[in-house]
Amino acid sequence: MAGRISARDIEEVKSRVNIADVVSDYLALRPAGVGSLKGLCPFHDEKSPSFTVKPNDGFYKCFGCGEGGDVYKFLQQLDHISFYEAVEKLAGRVGYVLTYEEGGGPSPDHGLKNRILEANNAAALFYQSQIMSDAAETGREFLKSRGFDKAAAERFSIGFAPKAWSELYAHLKALGFSDEELISAALVTKGDKGIYDKFRGRLIWPIRDSTSQVIGFGARKLFEDDNGPKYLNSSDTLVYHKSQVLYGIDLAKRDISKNQQVVVVEGYTDVMACHLAGVTTAVATCGTAFGDDHIKTLNRMLSASVDSAAEV
Ligand SMILES: [Zn+2]
Repeated sequence: MAGRISARDIEEVKSRVNIADVVSDYLALRPAGVGSLKGLCPFHDEKSPSFTVKPNDGFYKCFGCGEGGDVYKFLQQLDHISFYEAVEKLAGRVGYVLTYEEGGGPSPDHGLKNRILEANNAAALFYQSQIMSDAAETGREFLKSRGFDKAAAERFSIGFAPKAWSELYAHLKALGFSDEELISAALVTKGDKGIYDKFRGRLIWPIRDSTSQVIGFGARKLFEDDNGPKYLNSSDTLVYHKSQVLYGIDLAKRDISKNQQVVVVEGYTDVMACHLAGVTTAVATCGTAFGDDHIKTLNRMLSASVDSAAEV
Protein backbone atom coordinates (compact mmCIF):
# COMPACT_ATOMS: atom_id res chain seq x y z
CA MET A 1 0.00 0.00 0.00
CA ALA A 2 1.27 3.40 -0.88
CA GLY A 3 1.64 5.81 2.00
CA ARG A 4 1.22 9.51 2.40
CA ILE A 5 4.24 11.74 2.60
CA SER A 6 4.42 13.25 6.08
CA ALA A 7 3.44 16.90 6.40
CA ARG A 8 6.76 17.57 8.12
CA ASP A 9 8.66 16.27 5.07
CA ILE A 10 6.55 18.34 2.71
CA GLU A 11 7.52 21.49 4.62
CA GLU A 12 11.13 20.39 5.05
CA VAL A 13 11.67 19.78 1.33
CA LYS A 14 10.07 23.11 0.51
CA SER A 15 12.35 24.91 2.95
CA ARG A 16 15.43 23.36 1.36
CA VAL A 17 14.49 24.35 -2.17
CA ASN A 18 14.96 27.83 -3.57
CA ILE A 19 11.88 28.48 -5.70
CA ALA A 20 13.93 30.80 -7.92
CA ASP A 21 16.29 27.92 -8.84
CA VAL A 22 13.36 25.70 -9.78
CA VAL A 23 11.61 28.40 -11.81
CA SER A 24 14.90 29.24 -13.54
CA ASP A 25 14.88 25.80 -15.14
CA TYR A 26 11.94 26.99 -17.21
CA LEU A 27 12.36 30.72 -17.72
CA ALA A 28 14.83 33.53 -17.23
CA LEU A 29 14.42 35.58 -14.06
CA ARG A 30 15.87 39.02 -13.52
CA PRO A 31 16.14 41.06 -10.34
CA ALA A 32 13.15 43.36 -9.98
CA GLY A 33 13.57 45.19 -6.72
CA VAL A 34 14.29 44.01 -3.20
CA GLY A 35 13.61 40.30 -2.71
CA SER A 36 11.82 40.00 -6.03
CA LEU A 37 12.54 38.50 -9.46
CA LYS A 38 10.63 38.78 -12.71
CA GLY A 39 10.28 36.90 -15.97
CA LEU A 40 7.93 36.09 -18.84
CA CYS A 41 4.97 34.10 -17.55
CA PRO A 42 5.00 30.43 -18.63
CA PHE A 43 1.22 30.23 -18.17
CA HIS A 44 0.12 32.92 -20.62
CA ASP A 45 1.59 34.70 -23.62
CA GLU A 46 3.13 38.05 -22.86
CA LYS A 47 5.76 40.41 -24.21
CA SER A 48 6.77 42.17 -21.01
CA PRO A 49 7.33 40.24 -17.80
CA SER A 50 4.62 40.18 -15.16
CA PHE A 51 5.55 36.86 -13.60
CA THR A 52 7.08 37.55 -10.19
CA VAL A 53 8.98 35.26 -7.83
CA LYS A 54 9.78 36.09 -4.22
CA PRO A 55 12.41 33.58 -3.10
CA ASN A 56 12.30 34.53 0.57
CA ASP A 57 8.56 34.03 0.75
CA GLY A 58 8.68 30.95 -1.50
CA PHE A 59 5.90 32.17 -3.78
CA TYR A 60 5.31 33.12 -7.40
CA LYS A 61 2.55 35.30 -8.78
CA CYS A 62 1.65 36.43 -12.28
CA PHE A 63 0.08 39.87 -12.39
CA GLY A 64 -1.04 39.21 -15.95
CA CYS A 65 -3.07 36.01 -15.65
CA GLY A 66 -3.33 35.65 -11.88
CA GLU A 67 -1.53 32.30 -11.56
CA GLY A 68 0.30 31.99 -8.28
CA GLY A 69 1.38 29.64 -5.53
CA ASP A 70 4.33 27.85 -4.00
CA VAL A 71 7.04 25.76 -5.62
CA TYR A 72 4.89 22.61 -5.60
CA LYS A 73 2.03 24.35 -7.35
CA PHE A 74 4.47 25.69 -9.94
CA LEU A 75 5.70 22.22 -10.83
CA GLN A 76 2.19 20.75 -10.78
CA GLN A 77 0.99 23.38 -13.23
CA LEU A 78 3.97 23.42 -15.54
CA ASP A 79 4.98 19.75 -15.58
CA HIS A 80 1.38 18.52 -15.32
CA ILE A 81 2.19 16.32 -12.34
CA SER A 82 0.37 15.62 -9.08
CA PHE A 83 1.17 17.25 -5.76
CA TYR A 84 2.95 14.12 -4.51
CA GLU A 85 4.96 13.83 -7.70
CA ALA A 86 6.06 17.43 -7.22
CA VAL A 87 7.17 16.69 -3.65
CA GLU A 88 9.01 13.57 -4.81
CA LYS A 89 10.67 15.43 -7.65
CA LEU A 90 11.97 18.21 -5.40
CA ALA A 91 13.03 15.78 -2.67
CA GLY A 92 15.12 14.02 -5.32
CA ARG A 93 16.56 17.34 -6.39
CA VAL A 94 17.86 18.21 -2.92
CA GLY A 95 18.73 14.63 -1.98
CA TYR A 96 16.14 14.39 0.79
CA VAL A 97 14.81 10.93 1.69
CA LEU A 98 11.05 11.10 2.20
CA THR A 99 9.23 9.29 4.98
CA TYR A 100 5.95 7.68 3.98
CA GLU A 101 3.25 7.38 6.62
CA GLU A 102 1.11 4.24 6.97
CA GLY A 103 4.21 2.20 6.13
CA GLY A 104 3.84 2.54 2.40
CA GLY A 105 6.18 3.44 -0.43
CA PRO A 106 5.85 6.16 -3.02
CA SER A 107 2.29 7.22 -3.84
CA PRO A 108 0.38 5.76 -6.80
CA ASP A 109 0.81 9.20 -8.32
CA HIS A 110 4.46 8.36 -8.67
CA GLY A 111 3.14 7.10 -11.92
CA LEU A 112 3.84 6.23 -15.49
CA LYS A 113 5.51 9.54 -16.25
CA ASN A 114 8.20 8.92 -13.66
CA ARG A 115 8.67 5.35 -14.85
CA ILE A 116 9.16 6.61 -18.39
CA LEU A 117 11.83 9.02 -17.17
CA GLU A 118 13.51 6.24 -15.21
CA ALA A 119 13.41 3.93 -18.23
CA ASN A 120 14.89 6.68 -20.43
CA ASN A 121 17.67 7.21 -17.95
CA ALA A 122 18.45 3.49 -17.79
CA ALA A 123 18.33 3.28 -21.60
CA ALA A 124 20.76 6.20 -21.95
CA LEU A 125 23.22 4.44 -19.63
CA PHE A 126 22.81 1.21 -21.58
CA TYR A 127 23.47 2.90 -24.93
CA GLN A 128 26.52 4.68 -23.52
CA SER A 129 27.88 1.41 -22.19
CA GLN A 130 27.82 0.09 -25.78
CA ILE A 131 29.72 2.90 -27.49
CA MET A 132 33.16 1.34 -26.92
CA SER A 133 32.03 -2.15 -28.01
CA ASP A 134 33.44 -3.77 -31.17
CA ALA A 135 30.02 -3.55 -32.80
CA ALA A 136 30.03 0.24 -32.38
CA GLU A 137 33.18 0.81 -34.42
CA THR A 138 31.25 2.25 -37.38
CA GLY A 139 29.66 4.68 -34.96
CA ARG A 140 32.99 5.76 -33.52
CA GLU A 141 34.34 6.22 -37.05
CA PHE A 142 31.39 8.41 -37.94
CA LEU A 143 32.06 10.62 -34.91
CA LYS A 144 35.74 10.81 -35.76
CA SER A 145 34.96 11.80 -39.35
CA ARG A 146 32.93 14.70 -37.97
CA GLY A 147 35.81 15.78 -35.76
CA PHE A 148 34.45 14.47 -32.46
CA ASP A 149 36.86 12.67 -30.16
CA LYS A 150 36.13 10.42 -27.21
CA ALA A 151 35.88 13.35 -24.80
CA ALA A 152 33.28 15.03 -27.02
CA ALA A 153 31.26 11.81 -27.22
CA GLU A 154 31.34 11.55 -23.44
CA ARG A 155 30.40 15.17 -22.90
CA PHE A 156 27.24 14.63 -24.95
CA SER A 157 26.62 11.13 -23.57
CA ILE A 158 26.55 9.60 -27.05
CA GLY A 159 25.72 5.93 -27.14
CA PHE A 160 25.22 3.05 -29.51
CA ALA A 161 22.15 0.88 -30.01
CA PRO A 162 23.17 -2.69 -30.86
CA LYS A 163 21.93 -4.19 -34.12
CA ALA A 164 20.20 -7.11 -32.44
CA TRP A 165 16.43 -6.91 -32.08
CA SER A 166 15.96 -6.77 -28.35
CA GLU A 167 19.11 -6.12 -26.34
CA LEU A 168 17.79 -2.95 -24.76
CA TYR A 169 14.41 -4.57 -24.15
CA ALA A 170 16.01 -7.53 -22.34
CA HIS A 171 18.24 -5.20 -20.32
CA LEU A 172 15.36 -2.99 -19.16
CA LYS A 173 13.10 -5.96 -18.43
CA ALA A 174 15.85 -7.34 -16.19
CA LEU A 175 15.83 -4.00 -14.36
CA GLY A 176 12.14 -4.46 -13.62
CA PHE A 177 10.44 -2.31 -16.24
CA SER A 178 7.14 -3.62 -17.59
CA ASP A 179 6.14 -3.94 -21.26
CA GLU A 180 3.58 -1.19 -20.76
CA GLU A 181 6.19 1.18 -19.36
CA LEU A 182 8.69 0.50 -22.14
CA ILE A 183 6.10 0.82 -24.91
CA SER A 184 4.83 4.06 -23.31
CA ALA A 185 8.41 5.33 -23.28
CA ALA A 186 8.63 4.55 -27.03
CA LEU A 187 11.86 2.65 -26.37
CA VAL A 188 10.38 -0.51 -27.84
CA THR A 189 7.73 -1.26 -30.44
CA LYS A 190 5.10 -3.96 -30.34
CA GLY A 191 4.85 -5.79 -33.65
CA ASP A 192 3.24 -9.00 -34.95
CA LYS A 193 6.19 -11.07 -33.79
CA GLY A 194 6.55 -9.49 -30.39
CA ILE A 195 8.29 -6.57 -28.78
CA TYR A 196 11.53 -5.24 -30.21
CA ASP A 197 13.90 -2.27 -29.74
CA LYS A 198 12.95 0.91 -31.57
CA PHE A 199 16.56 1.90 -32.26
CA ARG A 200 18.90 -0.75 -33.70
CA GLY A 201 22.39 -0.34 -35.14
CA ARG A 202 22.41 3.41 -34.61
CA LEU A 203 24.35 6.15 -32.87
CA ILE A 204 22.27 7.54 -30.04
CA TRP A 205 21.97 11.06 -28.64
CA PRO A 206 20.02 11.35 -25.39
CA ILE A 207 17.70 14.37 -25.55
CA ARG A 208 17.27 16.20 -22.25
CA ASP A 209 14.79 18.80 -21.11
CA SER A 210 15.78 22.04 -19.40
CA THR A 211 15.96 20.22 -16.06
CA SER A 212 18.45 17.74 -17.60
CA GLN A 213 16.14 14.73 -17.50
CA VAL A 214 16.40 12.37 -20.47
CA ILE A 215 13.06 12.71 -22.26
CA GLY A 216 13.87 10.97 -25.55
CA PHE A 217 16.52 10.01 -28.07
CA GLY A 218 17.85 10.90 -31.48
CA ALA A 219 19.38 8.07 -33.50
CA ARG A 220 21.51 8.15 -36.64
CA LYS A 221 21.68 5.33 -39.16
CA LEU A 222 25.11 3.71 -39.50
CA PHE A 223 24.69 0.62 -41.66
CA GLU A 224 23.76 0.12 -45.32
CA ASP A 225 21.21 -2.58 -44.54
CA ASP A 226 19.21 -0.16 -42.37
CA ASN A 227 16.21 0.84 -44.49
CA GLY A 228 15.02 3.49 -42.07
CA PRO A 229 15.55 7.24 -42.37
CA LYS A 230 18.98 8.73 -41.70
CA TYR A 231 17.74 10.17 -38.41
CA LEU A 232 15.08 8.65 -36.19
CA ASN A 233 13.75 10.36 -33.07
CA SER A 234 11.62 9.20 -30.19
CA SER A 235 7.93 9.39 -30.98
CA ASP A 236 5.82 11.56 -28.69
CA THR A 237 5.30 10.21 -25.18
CA LEU A 238 4.00 11.61 -21.90
CA VAL A 239 7.36 13.34 -21.47
CA TYR A 240 8.46 13.94 -25.07
CA HIS A 241 6.60 16.41 -27.27
CA LYS A 242 8.57 16.98 -30.41
CA SER A 243 6.90 20.31 -31.14
CA GLN A 244 8.51 21.67 -27.96
CA VAL A 245 11.77 19.76 -27.74
CA LEU A 246 15.05 21.56 -28.30
CA TYR A 247 18.18 19.44 -28.28
CA GLY A 248 20.91 21.04 -26.17
CA ILE A 249 18.56 23.20 -24.07
CA ASP A 250 19.97 21.70 -20.85
CA LEU A 251 23.47 22.84 -21.81
CA ALA A 252 22.48 26.14 -23.38
CA LYS A 253 19.80 27.54 -21.08
CA ARG A 254 22.09 29.44 -18.68
CA ASP A 255 23.95 31.21 -21.46
CA ILE A 256 20.76 31.83 -23.46
CA SER A 257 19.44 33.74 -20.44
CA LYS A 258 22.73 35.38 -19.64
CA ASN A 259 23.70 36.45 -23.16
CA GLN A 260 20.14 37.07 -24.35
CA GLN A 261 20.78 35.18 -27.55
CA VAL A 262 20.12 31.76 -28.98
CA VAL A 263 21.55 29.99 -32.00
CA VAL A 264 19.18 27.50 -33.61
CA VAL A 265 20.99 24.93 -35.74
CA GLU A 266 19.87 21.86 -37.63
CA GLY A 267 20.95 18.74 -35.84
CA TYR A 268 22.71 16.95 -33.04
CA THR A 269 26.19 17.19 -34.54
CA ASP A 270 25.72 20.92 -35.23
CA VAL A 271 24.82 21.53 -31.58
CA MET A 272 27.90 19.57 -30.52
CA ALA A 273 30.18 21.45 -32.91
CA CYS A 274 28.83 24.81 -31.72
CA HIS A 275 29.24 24.06 -28.02
CA LEU A 276 32.74 22.67 -28.54
CA ALA A 277 33.63 25.81 -30.48
CA GLY A 278 32.38 28.03 -27.66
CA VAL A 279 28.96 28.88 -29.09
CA THR A 280 27.23 27.78 -25.91
CA THR A 281 23.76 29.04 -26.81
CA ALA A 282 23.15 26.55 -29.63
CA VAL A 283 20.09 24.29 -29.72
CA ALA A 284 18.37 22.25 -32.45
CA THR A 285 14.87 21.01 -33.14
CA CYS A 286 14.51 17.24 -33.29
CA GLY A 287 13.02 15.94 -36.52
CA THR A 288 10.54 18.75 -36.89
CA ALA A 289 10.42 22.31 -38.16
CA PHE A 290 11.12 25.22 -35.81
CA GLY A 291 7.64 26.22 -34.68
CA ASP A 292 5.53 28.31 -32.33
CA ASP A 293 6.05 26.04 -29.31
CA HIS A 294 9.82 26.23 -29.71
CA ILE A 295 9.59 30.00 -29.89
CA LYS A 296 7.51 30.09 -26.70
CA THR A 297 10.07 28.01 -24.83
CA LEU A 298 12.93 30.20 -26.00
CA ASN A 299 11.10 33.47 -25.40
CA ARG A 300 10.75 32.60 -21.73
CA MET A 301 14.52 32.21 -21.51
CA LEU A 302 15.09 35.35 -23.54
CA SER A 303 12.86 37.32 -21.21
CA ALA A 304 13.02 41.01 -22.08
CA SER A 305 14.68 43.40 -19.66
CA VAL A 306 12.57 43.87 -16.61
CA ASP A 307 10.78 47.09 -15.82
CA SER A 308 11.11 48.80 -12.49
CA ALA A 309 9.95 46.98 -9.41
CA ALA A 310 7.40 49.71 -8.82
CA GLU A 311 4.67 47.74 -10.56
CA VAL A 312 5.09 44.69 -8.35
ZN1 LIG B 1 0.65 34.78 -16.43
